[in-house]
Amino acid sequence: MALLEVTDLHTEFAVGKKTLHAVDGVSFTLEQGESLGLVGESGCGKTTTALSIIKLLPGNAQITSGSILYQGEEVTKKTRKGIRDMRWKEISIVFQGAMNALNPVMTIGDQIADAILLHENLSKEAVKARIAELLERVEIDRKRATNYPHEFSGGMRQRAMIAMALACNPKIIIGDEPTTALDVMVQAQIFDLLERLRRELRMAMILITHDLSAMTDTCDKAAIMYAGKIVEYVRVADLFTEAAHPYTRLLMSSYPRIGSERKMIDSIPGTVPDLTDPPKGCRFCDRCPEAMPICRETPPPEILLPGEHRVSCHLPSLIQKEGAKHV
Ligand code: SF4
Repeated sequence: MALLEVTDLHTEFAVGKKTLHAVDGVSFTLEQGESLGLVGESGCGKTTTALSIIKLLPGNAQITSGSILYQGEEVTKKTRKGIRDMRWKEISIVFQGAMNALNPVMTIGDQIADAILLHENLSKEAVKARIAELLERVEIDRKRATNYPHEFSGGMRQRAMIAMALACNPKIIIGDEPTTALDVMVQAQIFDLLERLRRELRMAMILITHDLSAMTDTCDKAAIMYAGKIVEYVRVADLFTEAAHPYTRLLMSSYPRIGSERKMIDSIPGTVPDLTDPPKGCRFCDRCPEAMPICRETPPPEILLPGEHRVSCHLPSLIQKEGAKHV
């Protein structure tokens, strides 16, 4: 049994009189200790997928169908209490923009203590010792527990958020663009820290990012999301040689590669389609340089390729590829 198994998940937002199909048939699995990168442009449904898993969706959103199994238990059917018991203790999340996620009028130590006391009945001294241990794990001096968020730098605040997320020893940690608004050096430190902690604590991780290079350094598998769907699912070790979906390939060519020929990086013209009225065929067809007439009319089939590799596309070169199976 996989640690987490998401199957055909649909999450929708009510936007005025319209329905926005933010997550539209997403499926993936996560094993213990494994890390999965959810990659794609803003507005592709990555964060909504993560918030669906821990049922932290805003009031105008709901999971309309599909299944989320955590250790074999259906998350979508859990009661409020069941979900509260699961959050932080089983699955925790590091939100983007720590300054907005942390309470500005509580000390960092008190905020970590809140997460601990929600699940564990510990003495004051034991909580204090746990806070000190957590801060040191994320390379913050234990004496800084009495500081307020505004007394920390951006990188320290993000590390404090990671300490909070680790407070109850979760089995899965979700990093939702955890380095947004940080400078490049600090971003690298945060990714290194997350990766080290994941290995030391044997946690599974879902890393949501639009940064392919960070994902390839940190993750075992990649799910490339576009307009609410996973268009390609591939082992990271195979990504650079086997990437097959036109969107994945364009995404990769829009990042500079150290050591390769010096040239202007590519961009992907156009924007993600309006998900209140998505195209009836392939959602990428307006931006795809390889689009064919069938792409406008018919949703692409999912093609299973050797090595846990899945691609949704009409390209004949994929459909006819050796070992390809259609779903
Ligand atoms: Fe491009 Fe067609 Fe494949 Fe969509 S289905 S990615 S439009 S080739």
